[in-house]
Amino acid sequence: MQYRALKTRMVRGVRNKYMDGVLGIHHMTAISGPAQENLDFYAGILGLRLVKLTVNFDDPSAYHLYYGDGAGNPGTILTFFPYPNGHQGRSGSGQVSVTRLSVPPGSLGYWLDRLTQFEIDFDHPQTKNGRESLSFRAPDGLELELVVNPNYDIRAYWDQSPVPKNVAISGMDSIQIIERTLEPTKEILEDILGFQLVGQHEDIYRFEVNGGGCGKTIEVVIDPTGPSGRQGPGGVHHIAFRTEDENSQQDRRIQVLERGLRVSAVMDRDYFKSIYFREPGGVLFEIATDPPGFTVDETPETIGTSLRLPKQYEPMRTQIEHALPPLIMPSHRK
Ligand code: ZN
Repeated sequence: MQYRALKTRMVRGVRNKYMDGVLGIHHMTAISGPAQENLDFYAGILGLRLVKLTVNFDDPSAYHLYYGDGAGNPGTILTFFPYPNGHQGRSGSGQVSVTRLSVPPGSLGYWLDRLTQFEIDFDHPQTKNGRESLSFRAPDGLELELVVNPNYDIRAYWDQSPVPKNVAISGMDSIQIIERTLEPTKEILEDILGFQLVGQHEDIYRFEVNGGGCGKTIEVVIDPTGPSGRQGPGGVHHIAFRTEDENSQQDRRIQVLERGLRVSAVMDRDYFKSIYFREPGGVLFEIATDPPGFTVDETPETIGTSLRLPKQYEPMRTQIEHALPPLIMPSHRK
C-alpha cells in the first residue's frame, strides 16, 4: 500500500515557539506477563539490552524493566511493568495497537528463522508503504512489528547481544494508535507535540516530527465503531515523547493545561523527568526529558546489571528484593 502524500499544513501565523516540536518518541511502556518471560523475550530473543532494572516507582512490589540499544538512547527504549495476573490487555480505540522496531535491509530472513526457532507467533511478511515488515506477538500478546528501514543506522550496538550487529534492531520505528475520530488527537499531536500530518492511506493517518523517520513517526488509525482498548498484560500503558530539558517540558505542560486537559505534576523518574496527560481519544501521553539518562546511577558498561531503587525505597531494599521474583539473565541460562 502507498500513502498519499499530503501537502503539509504550515500556517506560519499560528506557529509559536512550542511548535518546534518534541524530538521524537522517547519510550513505549506496556504491561507484561511474567518478568522472566519478558526478559527472555526482549533480551534473549530480540537481542535488546536490559538498560535498567528497577521497580515500579508507584508500586515497588513489581519490577520495571527497561530495554534499549547498547547505550539506552532515548528513542530505542521499551519498558515493561510485569503484572502477570492482570486481565489480558486488548488493543482498540484509545490504545496503542502496534509498536514498530527498525531493522536493516536484508534482515527479515534472519528474523523469520529466529522467531520460528523460538516458536514466536508471526504473520507472513508484508510490504506496506514500500517497506517490508514482519508482524509478531510477544509471549504476552503485545503486537510488535519489525520494519525494514532503508536509512537504518544503529547508534549503539550492544556487543553482548545474541543477535548479530548486521541484523540488529536499532530502536523504535513508529507507533500506531487507534482512535474513534481524528481531529481532537490530531490537534494535540500538531499543536502541543509539533507533529505534522504527512500522509494518509484509507483510515490511517501518518504524522511526523523533527524531520520524520525512525522514532519520529506516529500513525493514527481511525475506527469509529471498534471496541475500546483495555490495559493489561500485552497492552501498552503509554507513549512517551522526548523533550530537551525541563524548561521545554514546562512550556508544554502549560500548553496542555491551556487546552483544558488534565496533566500531572512533574515526576522525577530518576532517569528522566516526566509529565503525563491523556489525549482526548484516551491514549496516555508522557513527555520525558532526555537527561539525565540511564548512566546517572550506573556506568555505561554496567547499566541494567543490578537492581536500582529510587532513593525513597532504598531503606526498604531487603524487603523489596525479597518480594520480587528472582530474575536470571538469558545469557546465564544457556
Ligand atoms: Zn513512561
